[in-house]
Amino acid sequence: MRSPPAWAYFLLRVVRNDGILMQDDKYKKLIAVMVCVGCICVLSVFCSLLQLQNMKHMENRMTFMENMLLAMNRIEAGNRSAEEVIRMNADGSMEAGQQSAEADVVEVEQDINMSAALGKNAEEEEGIIKIYLTFDDGPSIYTDDILDILDKYGVKATFFVNGKEGYEEQYRRIVAEGHTLGMHSYSHDYSKVYADLDSFADDMYTLQTYLYELTGVECELYRFPGGSSNNASKIDMTRCIQYLNAKGIRYFDWNVSSGDASGGYKSADTIALNVMSQIKALDADTMVVLFHDASGKSTTVEALPMIIEKIQAMDDTELLPITDDTQPIQHISVHE
Ligand SMILES: [Zn+2]
Repeated sequence: MRSPPAWAYFLLRVVRNDGILMQDDKYKKLIAVMVCVGCICVLSVFCSLLQLQNMKHMENRMTFMENMLLAMNRIEAGNRSAEEVIRMNADGSMEAGQQSAEADVVEVEQDINMSAALGKNAEEEEGIIKIYLTFDDGPSIYTDDILDILDKYGVKATFFVNGKEGYEEQYRRIVAEGHTLGMHSYSHDYSKVYADLDSFADDMYTLQTYLYELTGVECELYRFPGGSSNNASKIDMTRCIQYLNAKGIRYFDWNVSSGDASGGYKSADTIALNVMSQIKALDADTMVVLFHDASGKSTTVEALPMIIEKIQAMDDTELLPITDDTQPIQHISVHE
């Protein structure tokens, strides 16, 4: 008579539970395989969860990279368009045009610094988002148009102006209509403003005096030409900041850029899209938006109603002029 097959004998011993768990090598191998399969399953689930999380990080990085690319394109456009800027300045000299183009490029460079330094602040409290529209380089042929639009929508803004002849009425109108007047250097000529600390101080004092005589306002707000983190200054910018601090003058950079300073043509739609996409992406409760009130920037004026309407349609935002209570947005902070 044939003896039963090995597997039947094995099964019989399992049923009888006669110590096979401890003694039989085959059974030990089976348990080892099952443990391995279990581990692999657990690891797979863990890896899937990890991958999901990485995908979210990748999305954030992609958004950041897109913003960086956009800013890089602006710089390229700024470099290409130096000649165009010279042509646009119909009433200015060629030198002034070149300087303006240089200013545009440097200010656009700050967009990148801004993204890196102030891109997102997770510690901001939730609540109403305060948005400050700011206009640099004015007054200009467009100041009245900008003021008309702001008046129509009941919005107060901030003008960081230069020292210019022939725009006396516009300086006064800015103040009379309740907007904030800030300084942006008298000459906006980097080679003069940033030659040394004395030149910087002289330029600022000249503008402060000029504005006081015209409007009766003693300005205590400053925006550096090119921003506080500009690459054009021969002075260590922390010395300029310390000088302003000592004088009790607060300076503001920006954390949202309209991109209207890159020199090349920017449509009103592009400017509006730039502003609104950054406002939606930025996790901050104070947003300072950079615009330019300058010849050749007609599309900034065109974009303004669209931008104001979109912001006013958001129920968690408020459009305000910069005041003493405004949280400073600064690319470089110097604490003494
Ligand atoms: Zn400027």
